[in-house]
Amino acid sequence: YLLVLLRVLPLLSQLNTIRSNFASTAASVDVANEFLSLDDKPFMGNGKLTYTKLQEGVSFNSLCFAYPGHEKLVLKDVNLYLPRGTTLALVGGSGAGKSTIADLLPRFYDPIAGAITIDGIDLRQFDVVSLRRRMGIVSQDTFLFNDSVKNNIAYGCPEASDDEIITATKRANAYEFISKLPQGFDTLIGDRGVMLSGGQRQRLAIARALVQNPEILILDEATSALDTVSERLVQAALDELSRDRTTLVIAHRLSTVQKADQIAVLDQGRVVEVGTHEQLLQKGGYYSRLYSMQFAERPETVTKQNQSLLR
Ligand code: ADP
Ligand code: MG
Repeated sequence: YLLVLLRVLPLLSQLNTIRSNFASTAASVDVANEFLSLDDKPFMGNGKLTYTKLQEGVSFNSLCFAYPGHEKLVLKDVNLYLPRGTTLALVGGSGAGKSTIADLLPRFYDPIAGAITIDGIDLRQFDVVSLRRRMGIVSQDTFLFNDSVKNNIAYGCPEASDDEIITATKRANAYEFISKLPQGFDTLIGDRGVMLSGGQRQRLAIARALVQNPEILILDEATSALDTVSERLVQAALDELSRDRTTLVIAHRLSTVQKADQIAVLDQGRVVEVGTHEQLLQKGGYYSRLYSMQFAERPETVTKQNQSLLR
């Protein structure tokens, strides 16, 4: 089976073109749509079903994946289930495959074997635009436009009212700093305007996601760029965003890991453990080793060095 896979890989790699750094820099999948239209990837095909609502959950079934031009399998028989309204945290060392799993969900790539299903229906049967419209991504490198704060937040939801935008910024802990900008919500940001700190950019991305109100949320947390105060504000905003939402989070923060309904530990493309924080600690395996190595000494102050171990 593996041999067959390896033989078709070179073919597949021709097909699977752009990943684009974009996949990881998009603050919202709607943004990504403009750049990652299926026209660029005719081989991917588009389904006919309009995606409407998640009823039960998202299943990752026996996923295998290799990047274009690379024979190495970076995901090997990954099986996970994310019930609606819950949070699944992915942890593991650098290169374990966490971001790759997150990229398969909005179909930036398709698996080379196995399938992701929503309520039992293969993602590939859905119209990809309708699918991505209901998904939101917040990652460390937020994609902001040279435009006003307000337009950056309303991006993807031009019909959003001022009230909705203000409420979202309050929930995202962004209202206060926005109010202090020279022209408030009309302040231009980016190359041609005010430059924002990493934490401020993240909170804008969170406000944008709150306005978009995605059903499925994909979070790639990052704290390395943030100071403690900023990190706390971002964390609170992320908690607000992911509450009651179906969330796949690449977790670097201790609090996220502990609160998640499930934690999946990845090692070299395989899921080696799944469980709650308590269950995995009790088990005394990979996770508990990660945990004691990184957190046990100073649970309050996870140092940068410690964080990078978990990444
Ligand atoms: P993680 O997010 O857990 O750090 P990734 O999913 O980013 O891991 O990467 C998994 C593996 O895939 C790594 O070996 C990485 O080098 C490789 N990889 C990631 N992105 C690409 C790419 N665009 N092309 C080729 N290989 C990649
Ligand atoms: Mg990653």
